[in-house]
Amino acid sequence: MTGQPARFTRRREDFTCEHCGTPVRGDGYTNHCPHCLWSKHVDVAPGDRAADCGGAMPPVGVLYEDGRQVLVQRCERCGHQRRNRVAAGDEPAAIEALYGRPVPD
Ligand SMILES: [Zn+2]
Ligand SMILES: [Zn+2]
Repeated sequence: MTGQPARFTRRREDFTCEHCGTPVRGDGYTNHCPHCLWSKHVDVAPGDRAADCGGAMPPVGVLYEDGRQVLVQRCERCGHQRRNRVAAGDEPAAIEALYGRPVPD
């Protein structure tokens, strides 16, 4: 098998968003709610579910990397920050609402 970074573990998981209650159909890549963009701190490397923090990760900003929109989320519990590609099904209005916010490094 080639074409996948070795550290990415793909899992399909359906879950219910703990922030807004939207049922989210997992596609194996998206781990945030497409409606409110909140996620949960469960990964150390993307997809590995190795973090035992479990804190809520609200979106704190959006930026561009290589011409693609990247969502920045920050764990409310431990302060861990993560960047996530914006997924095709993500709510455009929720992303727009993040524009203009300072993105911490
Ligand atoms: Zn949500
Ligand atoms: Zn955390």
